[in-house]
Amino acid sequence: MSASWENYLQTLAEGTIETYPLINPHTREKITDIPECTEEQMENAITKSEQAFQQMKALTSEERSTIIETACTLIAEQKETFAKTIVLESGKPIKFARGEVDRTIQTLKFAAIEAKKLEGESIRLDAAPNGAGRDAYTIFQPIGVVGAITPFNFPLNLVSHKVGPALAVGNTIIVKPAEKTPLSSILLAQVFEEAGLPKDAFLVITGDGPKLGKVLIEHPAVAKITFTGSPQVGKLIKSQAGLKKVTLELGSNSALYIDNSVKDKLKDIAQKAVVGAFSYNGQVCISTQRIYVHEDIKEEFLHYFKEATESLVYGDPNEASTDMSGMIDEKSQQRVLKWMEEAVTEGATLVTGGVAEGYGVKPSILTDVLPQSKVSCQEVFGPVVIVNSVASAEGALTEMNNSEYGLNAGVFTYVLPQAFEFAHNLEVGQVLINDLPTLRFDHMPYGGLKSSGYGYEGIKYAIREMVHMKFISMNYR
Ligand code: NAD
Repeated sequence: MSASWENYLQTLAEGTIETYPLINPHTREKITDIPECTEEQMENAITKSEQAFQQMKALTSEERSTIIETACTLIAEQKETFAKTIVLESGKPIKFARGEVDRTIQTLKFAAIEAKKLEGESIRLDAAPNGAGRDAYTIFQPIGVVGAITPFNFPLNLVSHKVGPALAVGNTIIVKPAEKTPLSSILLAQVFEEAGLPKDAFLVITGDGPKLGKVLIEHPAVAKITFTGSPQVGKLIKSQAGLKKVTLELGSNSALYIDNSVKDKLKDIAQKAVVGAFSYNGQVCISTQRIYVHEDIKEEFLHYFKEATESLVYGDPNEASTDMSGMIDEKSQQRVLKWMEEAVTEGATLVTGGVAEGYGVKPSILTDVLPQSKVSCQEVFGPVVIVNSVASAEGALTEMNNSEYGLNAGVFTYVLPQAFEFAHNLEVGQVLINDLPTLRFDHMPYGGLKSSGYGYEGIKYAIREMVHMKFISMNYR
């Protein structure tokens, strides 16, 4: 059976009278109508999910692992269908969409492995006075229904980062996908059904974030909310969730430092930085947004960086040669253009870009940007990079930490003590030495400090936030 979203949408539409048009971001044409599910539909989904949890609990680790492995095989067999669906609804160029499908398979394979591990620990109770004569250990138990609320920018892989761990440990999951990109998650639910997952153990409910989100967040039968999206919504969810377990993966304005010790690598770094800054129009939570370059090498770096940026190709996202395409919507496009205009008024210099291209924004570089300009201190979530010079590594560290966010940061340096200084003192969740901040492997621990998040993902780490860790002691004397 090949996965398709049409039938699933039809079933959802039976419970609702409202729809909204799903728009192709690159052409701004309507793709289809999406059911605007009601609160009642969400409540029904939660009830079904609770029932499915009884079946999930009856599965062994091996059975859960096999289902996830089978889903991986089915996704691989239909890779082009998945990739083209991502292109259609998100406007992501096909080469990046194919990459996202590959990563999804990786993510889920890690989940299949973890399903067989779920390792607790053995605890020496005789380390405490009067503790002797007991064996003690912890086990991980599933918690029940997980509610997942996901963003538009990785409509398949970021959903898998929630579905994989939830199913690996034996929970059920309801996904409320981004309004703008619901189709990829529907395809994912279909392959899991075909892979033998108990009915209703993975449901997708489409529609309005605040309305449906509120039901998921406040419903007593939902044990955990896992959210990826903007800091504004993340903070609101945390305030609504009470004692419920919550994981929040939020935004950032990721920074990179390039030290003068890596002078001989500048061309190579510039080419990598172009990918880190402009992939999927910069609509990536760890997009390289702020680059601090040692003053001795700034002009040379800018020369290479500008040259590589200007070679990017704007066009139809279905074409393999396309690098840049339309942004997710007009509001985002206009906001990004306005923020650049403001930065220039505030004293920044535009190196390249700064204008619209089709429904997108030309890849843009600004230099000598004030820290208080929005393109520096807020999350741009568009194809804009600032390149400022710094007199020293210490100066770079201060600039990089001058942010309300703290997700990923990158540092290029050959000076070992300097690398360790950055590693220890950058106020972020992940430090990438001799790499861009735009780097994530799907099994690594991944979470943000400050306004960038709360809790961790990366399969094994996500699982720990979706379980009861039960302590068991056996007194054998
Ligand atoms: P968004 O916050 O607008 O929407 C995300 C999801 O939240 C959507 O499903 C939306 O319907 C839902 N939502 C909106 N209002 C809600 C409410 N009041 N209650 C409950 N749910 C609500 O984000 P977006 O524009 O889709 O995605 C971009 C943001 O996501 C950026 O800030 C980006 O940095 C962040 N992001 C973070 C990561 C990460 O791993 N840290 C990854 C990708 C994207």
